[in-house]
Amino acid sequence: MTGWWRRWRRTRTLERRAIPDALWQQTLARYPFLAARSEARVTALREMATLFLAHKEFGGAGGLAVDDAMAVAIAAQACLPALELGLSWLDGFVGIVVHPDAVVAHREREDEVGVVHSYDEELSGEAMDGGPVMLAWRDVDEAGESAAEGYNVVIHEFAHVIDMRGGFTAGAEEADRSTARGRWLRSLLLEHERFVRRADRDDETFLDPYAAESLEEFFAVGSEAFFVAPATLKTEQPRLYRLLAEVYRQDPERDRMEQGGREAPLDGADGKART
Ligand SMILES: [Zn+2]
Repeated sequence: MTGWWRRWRRTRTLERRAIPDALWQQTLARYPFLAARSEARVTALREMATLFLAHKEFGGAGGLAVDDAMAVAIAAQACLPALELGLSWLDGFVGIVVHPDAVVAHREREDEVGVVHSYDEELSGEAMDGGPVMLAWRDVDEAGESAAEGYNVVIHEFAHVIDMRGGFTAGAEEADRSTARGRWLRSLLLEHERFVRRADRDDETFLDPYAAESLEEFFAVGSEAFFVAPATLKTEQPRLYRLLAEVYRQDPERDRMEQGGREAPLDGADGKART
């Protein structure tokens, strides 16, 4: 595509398929963490979500029909981490499959001595390279309430999408300290190692202990908290907050303070797995 065509198509999509005002306002009200930034950024998020909706294919599983409000809720949360990077960062897949609730996946894992362990895992989301992205609607629906716990399944899965595209957490052990990227990766690895030690001691951690699983999961779980509970993450893990701010080119806590400093009220969230 040439530049003018791309721009023309973008303008046309924004004009013809813009998210209706009432639906957008309803989405911001249900997920207050989307609105805790400047008017210009919220407008940019709405435009990106409009283009996202035009380019992605939503499918309901298990008898679920994905309506406009559900698609907009997913699009807005999916675009939040890509807001300053650009929509092209989410280009690697097209399909989004929405299940009514968590899905039980049968897993098999071989341990160090070659014994295969099989077990069931309850998933509320999954992102695979090339897609599709799977989401459990129940968790998406409750994302406004679970924000105080730093929990957000859409941001978790799209953090994986962005990580797969950018290769942020790849090759940590061989990271070259002479490059900015290598230093970033070494710092993330150190933060992860500290977190794993705390999780091993059963210390109370703000981040879900699932973050100890791997560097990729640490990045994704940290990204959830970064976007939906930035004040708490910045207090609890200031170094991780800074590392994520560098990658996403955003500072949600500064935005939140500029908008009056509201954060979602504390409420319970369950601890389902998302891979
Ligand atoms: Zn994950």
